[in-house]
Amino acid sequence: MLLDFPAVSAKASERLGRIRHVALDMDGTVYMDKALFETAIPFLQLLKRLGLGHTFLTNNPSKSAAEYLTQLKGMGIHATADQLYTSAHATIDFLKGKHPQVRRLFVLGTPGLCDELTAAGFELLPDDPAATPDAVIVGFDQTLTYPRLCRAAWWIKQGKPFIATNPDLVCPTDKPTVLVDCGAITAALERATGRRPHAVLGKPDPAMLRGILLRHSLTPENLAMVGDRLYTDMDMAHRAGAMGVLVLTGEATAAEAQKHVPKPDLVVPTLAEFGELLQAYAAR
Ligand SMILES: [Mg+2]
Repeated sequence: MLLDFPAVSAKASERLGRIRHVALDMDGTVYMDKALFETAIPFLQLLKRLGLGHTFLTNNPSKSAAEYLTQLKGMGIHATADQLYTSAHATIDFLKGKHPQVRRLFVLGTPGLCDELTAAGFELLPDDPAATPDAVIVGFDQTLTYPRLCRAAWWIKQGKPFIATNPDLVCPTDKPTVLVDCGAITAALERATGRRPHAVLGKPDPAMLRGILLRHSLTPENLAMVGDRLYTDMDMAHRAGAMGVLVLTGEATAAEAQKHVPKPDLVVPTLAEFGELLQAYAAR
């Protein structure tokens, strides 16, 4: 309980009182595979009582926002579209912010990613050497075909900007297979073309958290990023200047957190203990 654990450093306690919004990693933080942690719904209810906002965040751009909202609803979490931020949203915000001239895209991505890009106003081009894109977007494409992979390489070779939605090499699975993710597809394109991607969005790039700050007019000191991985969730928090809160319900252990540089701002067993701390500091 709060009396003994977690040990809160002076720096962390100073930050806790300023938190206005919580960004939540999903797998390993809110649920494991498809099973919701029993701490999740009480934690979300507490945030609401304390008047703190929250956003669910994922590196996986293969499902559209609507598909993620349906998945959460199936677990008993009723979220709205503006409470979800995926690496597809980070890619869209990156293009609009940094490359406003880019309109026509050649995309290696699922229908979910393509839907998000189309809804954001981009034109998605067919696999046709006469249809010249402004940029190539590479996602976690579970619908990948060899001709489209080759066409993407062709456009990259022609010097078109090349943007990867997320750096993950594989997507975790308990099935007897390896789910080849965006990072590995990107690596194939790099080897084939000799060109590196212009940008790789998704964690640990801070773009997702910056997008959330922008969406809610917040500053980094108002934001806590909660996740179970050191080299993605916690590194992203650090790079964005947000408070990094590691939960021990997923990948990282307390011992690994001790050794990681930089250390998370706070390490808690589950969302419940983080909720207790938010409540204690909100009351001060
Ligand atoms: Mg996770």
